[in-house]
Amino acid sequence: ALTVVGSINADITAVTDRLPVPGETVGGGRLLRSPGGKGANQAAAAARLGARTRMIGAVGTDPAGREMTEALRQAGVDVDQVAEVDAETGTALITVDARGENTIAVCEGANAQVSIADHEFPATETVLTQLEIPLATVTALAAAVRGFFVVNAAPARPLPAEVVDRADLIIVNESEFAALPQLRKARAVAVTYGAQGAALYERAEQIAVAPAQTVTPVSTVGAGDAFCAALTIGLRAGLSAETALRAANAVGAAAVTDPSARPAFPAFAHFLPDTDE
Ligand code: ADP
Repeated sequence: ALTVVGSINADITAVTDRLPVPGETVGGGRLLRSPGGKGANQAAAAARLGARTRMIGAVGTDPAGREMTEALRQAGVDVDQVAEVDAETGTALITVDARGENTIAVCEGANAQVSIADHEFPATETVLTQLEIPLATVTALAAAVRGFFVVNAAPARPLPAEVVDRADLIIVNESEFAALPQLRKARAVAVTYGAQGAALYERAEQIAVAPAQTVTPVSTVGAGDAFCAALTIGLRAGLSAETALRAANAVGAAAVTDPSARPAFPAFAHFLPDTDE
């Protein structure tokens, strides 16, 4: 089973012709509300791909909290361990212009209270986390997790050494990899390169690489999250690094051709390369 420990956000997006500059008001926006947060997006992707998935996270007691929890439940995620705390539900205020450029301001809210206080993590349980929750919680996880432990080091923040040492796999995009030189010492790091695919490194040495699928992107929001869920599932299923990367790229490609940050993926097996290739 997979446990995702991470953020749950309500995304509020204004789609405008151009982004406002400081002090400016831009009108004519189209409003979109959607469930988000790297943790919740990854949990939803994993459940849609068919993994038995539970989420440890926190929302506020506000209506957004109930909506975000319900969205996770609808994706098939076990939400029994999503706490309701006395704070606002985490919120991202996003503006997107006609060219797809964006600005994002995040209010962590309830995500600042995610903790693993009363949880145990048996050896059979895979744990996937990201850095939109307190680093102290990620550090506590590194000590508590007995099974396969995956850290998506996003958004990029320097990681405590004990997290880098404990993680069985760290997943980052190219710019996060560049921002975190300490990852060159990590045991296993998967780096995503957008339309160039992904590679796996062991102590800075490349051991597997897989090209992206050729698709016409509709929205790249959520692609990284889908990739993290898929790579974790693939490696835990015992696939070789290269096959797991290829499958994760196929899931990433499916995500970029879907306008939503939470696409309704088919089961993981659908993304495996044909065996007769
Ligand atoms: P992030 O969104 O976290 O910055 P990337 O842009 O590297 O991450 O994308 C994550 C993964 O999604 C890539 O490794 C790839 O598998 C897939 N992907 C992203 N952009 C494209 C694209 N233009 N074409 C095909 N696949 C893509």
